[in-house]
Amino acid sequence: MIKERSAEQVWNDCLEIIKDNLSGQNFKTWFEPIKAIKLYQDILTIQVPSQFFYEWIEEHYIGLIKKVLKKEIGAEGKLEYQIVMDQDSAKTETPLTFNLPSLNMSTKNPSVNMPLDTAQHGIKNPFVIPGLKKVQVESQLNPKFSFDNFVEGDCNRLARSAGFAVSQKPGGNAFNPLLIYGGVGLGKTHLAQAIGLESKKNFPNKTVLYVQAEKFIAQFIDSVKNNNQNDFVHFYQMIDILIIDDVQFFAGKEKTQDVFFHIFNHLHQLGKQIVLTADRAPVDIQGIEQRLLSRFKWGLSADLQTPGLETRMAILDKKVHNNGLQLPKEVNEYLAYSITSNIRELEGALITLLAQSSLNKKIITLELAKAMIDKFVKSNAREVSIDYIQKVVCDYFDLAIDTMKSKTRKREVVQARQIAMYFAKNMTKSSLATIGMHCGGKDHATVLHACRTVNNLMDTDKRFRAYIDELEKKISINQ
Ligand code: ADP
Ligand code: MG
Repeated sequence: MIKERSAEQVWNDCLEIIKDNLSGQNFKTWFEPIKAIKLYQDILTIQVPSQFFYEWIEEHYIGLIKKVLKKEIGAEGKLEYQIVMDQDSAKTETPLTFNLPSLNMSTKNPSVNMPLDTAQHGIKNPFVIPGLKKVQVESQLNPKFSFDNFVEGDCNRLARSAGFAVSQKPGGNAFNPLLIYGGVGLGKTHLAQAIGLESKKNFPNKTVLYVQAEKFIAQFIDSVKNNNQNDFVHFYQMIDILIIDDVQFFAGKEKTQDVFFHIFNHLHQLGKQIVLTADRAPVDIQGIEQRLLSRFKWGLSADLQTPGLETRMAILDKKVHNNGLQLPKEVNEYLAYSITSNIRELEGALITLLAQSSLNKKIITLELAKAMIDKFVKSNAREVSIDYIQKVVCDYFDLAIDTMKSKTRKREVVQARQIAMYFAKNMTKSSLATIGMHCGGKDHATVLHACRTVNNLMDTDKRFRAYIDELEKKISINQ
């Protein structure tokens, strides 16, 4: 009996039940545009207007549809989708392809009319035969930026753990969007990518996309030029975990902000995860519309700070280890002490050093490191750091750094501290106040006094002078 009914009749009966189970708006949005196409051997084919539409129905209404079909067609009932993109202009079915330039996605979609070999397509629900292979989105992730390779320290703890939490439950956590911000070379891209990689590992079926804001802007401009903005928007709206790096580049780009605003709202509403990075805190970003900025703050903003000495050493250790190499401890310390600005420079110095040593077949020694670093590190960072001076002085006098930094007034500590101040004054561009702060929280007058004392002693005490000369050689990075 049932088989005598037309596809349309069966679907209309289904709709009657579906209607009772949904809000008017949802029914109107998701079910009214569907057309029943055919009913053959218990397979009902319906036509939906987009890939996104199909995915939405699959995700949200499949339970309901399943029950209804069982009632109307029987336990053997199956559903098949046809996707027809542009219903206004296309009388015939248009295969779903996106013409976005420079997006690495497969455009080899099968003709949507053809029922697919179901086994091949990782169907979520055995009850349904999807009419279209899920578009393959190339995630643009680099496996080297994993959580495993990301060293945790005080400077990044909050951002890292929030990022990790996101990747355990993308979209279903309190950090949506997660905004990671911080200066250049501090690990924003690495962390953002780690979130992508880990999410993908945990949820292979979710679509993850990492994109630099500049690329997003360029794609958008192209889509305007080529008149396929809708494809652009649809493409981004079907991503489950969208990671946009360096959103400060959206500043002053109103149209891009506008389109991103819509994509953002759409994804957020559907509980998709958004991860953003920026080179400064949201409050400090100029030229971005308030409505967008306020959304950036909906979730969590976590900053990355300059890593402390221990984290710098741990990062070096990790990188050396990952390359299957070893570095003498003193070289590791020297690099970590000397390069304080950011991790990218630290890494650059290490790579240069490793390259030089292997090219020239030299073993890596402190001397080689010193020679190298002068050529490598940017001139503003080339000066020795106060930390390094303190370390060399402490090693020389066999004191713990903490003792030097403490307020103790023991004679030998006072002298070592004065010497460190003297070198810091002569070998760095740091202000007297900064130097004082590093050396037991002293004020600028104490630093001046220390410099005078050391100068006087050098003039009057030969042995003292010899100490200073020797120390100077040890500290100097140019030899
Ligand atoms: P940003 O995007 O903030 O400018 P990147 O993420 O590009 O910085 O990081 C610069 C380099 O430093 C990268 O090679 C990255 O792997 C490395 N790096 C940054 N933070 C860490 C960390 N915590 N542990 C290990 N490597 C790091
Ligand atoms: Mg970056």
